[in-house]
Amino acid sequence: MNLVVLGATGSIGASTLDVAARHPERYRVFALTAHGSADQLARLCRRHRPRYAVLSSAAENADLRRAFAEFGTELVFGAGALEALAAHGETDAVMAGIVGAAGLASTLAAVRAGKRVLLANKEALVMAGPLVMRAARESGAQLLPVDSEHNAVFQCFSDAKAVRKVVLTASGGPFRAAALDSLKSVTPEQACAHPNWVMGRKISVDSATMMNKGLEVIEASFLFGLAPEKIEVLIHPQSIVHSLVEYADGSVIAQLSNPDMRVPIAHALAYPERIDSGVAPLDLAAARNLSFERPDFARFPCLGLAYEALARGGTAPAVLNAANEVAVEAFLAGRLAFTGIAGVIAETLMAVPPSAADHLEQIMEADARARSQADQRVLALAA
Ligand code: NAD
Ligand code: MG
Repeated sequence: MNLVVLGATGSIGASTLDVAARHPERYRVFALTAHGSADQLARLCRRHRPRYAVLSSAAENADLRRAFAEFGTELVFGAGALEALAAHGETDAVMAGIVGAAGLASTLAAVRAGKRVLLANKEALVMAGPLVMRAARESGAQLLPVDSEHNAVFQCFSDAKAVRKVVLTASGGPFRAAALDSLKSVTPEQACAHPNWVMGRKISVDSATMMNKGLEVIEASFLFGLAPEKIEVLIHPQSIVHSLVEYADGSVIAQLSNPDMRVPIAHALAYPERIDSGVAPLDLAAARNLSFERPDFARFPCLGLAYEALARGGTAPAVLNAANEVAVEAFLAGRLAFTGIAGVIAETLMAVPPSAADHLEQIMEADARARSQADQRVLALAA
């Protein structure tokens, strides 16, 4: 199977290449992409020898092109190449591992081309869920969730009409038990120090605010066709139970594993078969306790904002996502307090009322309006 890894230099990219390299007879790395880090991309190409590599933020550079040619890799420049390779005739499977709205176009291109799409880029589904799902139905693309919760739900899901509810688990992030008045002075390093997972910086901040879980509620609603009231969130600090599905007869089915993204990635790569992921067996006796508690919506206002955006519908989830990306970037750059993130998002949702989201152009327009509104709120707070 020819595999394209979009966002190969990221955390999901590394886990994907680790699993694929364990099964060279099944997976051939066909293309790898990165935004800026040419050196890191070159190291990956030396190791995995893909046919193509993409540097999406760079302009044509003959020296770089020559350097990559030594690995038998043709280096292509610019964001347009992401879509072209996602939809390439020889591509079989695409890992959508780019972070944020930047991953939407290439994810959609892979879906429209009818590929097996391993979906890590949750923002694509938050922004354009109905559009992506419709495209998958039309093209016959196999959309396999890689986000650990959604992969868990997928593994536990049967007989949709008998599903009473889905429970997404959340670790609660690094500030689950921190004193509330300490949150305003939290630093990016503290926010990115996740207790159970090592991830990119954006999703780490999202986990600390619990916007990550909010985005996942929206993602689950579109992926599994569930009304918001059928999706619940439970804090589970051990991150061993990745999600649960409750049925009409009272049965609750859960998926468990050690917290390592190679588990859902291996599942999505090999589905419907099972392959070795390299992850150690789960030792429940060593874990001893699995605990669950309800989330505190006052501590984590972003979670409530996500439910609100989902209920409003149309472009509201895209607006929520754009405002969140702007606010998180400002926080990571030291321009916004951690506790300012939710306010920027709430005000942007008020300032950009939802409209229809049937076409990509409508969604991108709402995304742009939301970014400019959110930028203004960040500036106003800094003044
Ligand atoms: P990361 O920051 O580690 O990696 C991001 C990748 O995207 C890099 O390869 C980078 O070069 C590329 N990229 C960044 N901006 C880009 C742009 N504008 N255009 C093209 N490429 C760009 O992020 P990550 O933690 O690997 O997360 C990737 C996605 O997977 C996110 O949507 C995240 O929510 C989702 N996800 C991640 C995890 C995890 O454990 N890391 C778990 C579940 C879901
Ligand atoms: Mg997740």
